[in-house]
This record gives sequence, structure tokens and C-alpha cells, in this order.
Amino acid sequence: PITVVGSANVDMIMQVERFPAPGETVSDGQFSQAFGGKGANQAVAAARAGGRVAFLGCVGADAFGEAILENLRRDGIFTEPVVKSVSEPTGIAMILINKQGENCIAAAPGANNALTSAHIESYAAFLKRSRMVVIQAEIPRIAVEKTFEVLADSETAILFNFAPIRKEAPKLSPRITYLVVNETEAAYLSGVQVGTFREAEQAARILRRQGPQNVLLTLGANGVWVETPQGGFHAPALPVQAIDTTAAGDVFCGAFATATTQGQPIHEAVHFACAAAALCVTRLGAQPSIPYREEVETLLKQ
Ligand code: ADP
Repeated sequence: PITVVGSANVDMIMQVERFPAPGETVSDGQFSQAFGGKGANQAVAAARAGGRVAFLGCVGADAFGEAILENLRRDGIFTEPVVKSVSEPTGIAMILINKQGENCIAAAPGANNALTSAHIESYAAFLKRSRMVVIQAEIPRIAVEKTFEVLADSETAILFNFAPIRKEAPKLSPRITYLVVNETEAAYLSGVQVGTFREAEQAARILRRQGPQNVLLTLGANGVWVETPQGGFHAPALPVQAIDTTAAGDVFCGAFATATTQGQPIHEAVHFACAAAALCVTRLGAQPSIPYREEVETLLKQ
């Protein structure tokens, strides 16, 4: 299977007329709960793209943690490797959205920050049996580096999505098969501001020299620049009406992971992932906007 190692959160979303000032109460809120976290989003994206997926992360021993597991299982994701922290609560994001559509977010990573290298170590055999391990930077750096380490002498492919930007970036191991970054993350790691395709190529080449075998630099509506051992190429985005780009990068990673582990060559897998991400930006929200394989195939046939 594909094993996703990463974060999982519950988003507590409240739509209000206007944000309260310090000390003030606004009482006109409309509440909704949603599931998020880059790790969980990518796992759902890979599963809906048709992959067999397992999730390794850390939630709290509370009702939110249970709800996260149930939600992952609804997409057929194997959740046995999820650790329950006894000391930290499930990761939560509190999101206020005002009438203008602006947001105000406070996040508490909680249990996500309690994923230790010992947890990773205890699933070393499981990780090594995976076709691909997909991992992001929303968990402690030490857990990310431990994952690279336990996979050092295995055939498992690794997709590392350096998101969100962390001051202390993990070392870019040559064991990374695919490094996926957006323009900001690429600029942070390479020192090259990415505006043009030339700059994208330049940044991706610099990153490849730091270890990863392939670099996929996502460029929003401009698609992806891909740098491989055989050279670089540009994959255009699919033309769609963008409404909300939340989770576009996560969908790209998850769909790409499924496509490559099913044997698609890199050009085709990137195209498939762009189509999945394009569908995602036409819909509101994170996990509700993650498309299913049939929808992606329909878009690709048009
Ligand atoms: P992130 O969400 O991590 O910042 P990007 O904005 O680069 O990542 O988006 C990831 C991928 O999603 C892009 O490579 C592209 O394939 C797709 N995408 C993003 N925005 C659009 C858009 N406006 N139209 C079509 N595809 C898009």
C-alpha cells in the first residue's frame, strides 16, 4: 500500500458577521466541523484516486481523535498505525470566517507534535513493506528524518512534500524519490524566487542537487515544473474556474502517489495529479473538495 505519515486535525469553523474584538462576544455564529491536516488530506486524496492507503499519525485519546479515525475509514484508509497520545489532545484549528470571506485562524497542533521517532521506529517493518511513503512537514522534523532513516535500505519510494514551511527543514535525503514543493517552499529551500518557468527550472535543479531524485515544483494555475534525472519538463494545469484553492497541493500529492504506485510513467502521473487538483480548486473546503477517480478520468477524457 501507500502509507501516509503526517498530520490530522479537526477544523472548527464558525461563520460570523464580523470578528469579535478582544473581550467581546459575537453570538450570530454558524458552526461546522471539518476534517483537515495535510497528512489526512493527502491520505484521502490518494484513497479517492483509487489507491490502497494506510495512515500513520498521532491523535489525542479523545472524541475528536475517534472522529478523525472514523472519517479516514469512511474512505477505506487503514488506520491501525495511528498512535493515540495520552498527554496531548487532538490537533485542532479554530477558524472564524467573516461576512467578507476573510478568515482568522488559531491552530493547536497538539498530538501532531507528539509523533515521536519511537512511533516511527515501531512501524519500521510496515513502512518498509509499503510501495510508497508520503510525508509532509506538519509533524516534528525528527519524525520525518526518522522515516527517511528507517527506509534507508528499502525499495520503498518516498514522496516528501515540504509543507508548511518550517524554519528547520529536514535534510533533503537522496532517498527522497519525489520532492513536492510550491513556489514559496521552493524559494525557501533553494534561495531562488520563482516567478517564471526559467526560475522554476533553476530552483528545481538546485533542489535536485541537494538529494531528491525528482523535484515537482507546483505553480498554481501555471501547472508544475518537473525535474527528473532525464531532464526537466513543464506540465500545464487544466483550465478550470477556481473557487477555493484550499488543499490543491494535498490533492496533487495524494493523486500523484496513487498514479505512480499503479505504474503510470511520471508524465502521465503528473497529468493525472493536475486533473485531480484542478477539480479540487473548483469546490469549496478541504476534504469535501477531494475528487474521486471516476471524476478525474472524466475530466481527462474531455
Ligand atoms: P499549494 O496549494 O500547495 O500552494 P499550488 O497552488 O501550486 O499548491 O497547486 C497545486 C496544483 O494544483 C497545481 O500544480 C495545479 O496542478 C493545481 N492548481 C492550483 N491552482 C489551480 C488553478 N487555479 N487552476 C487549475 N489548477 C490549479
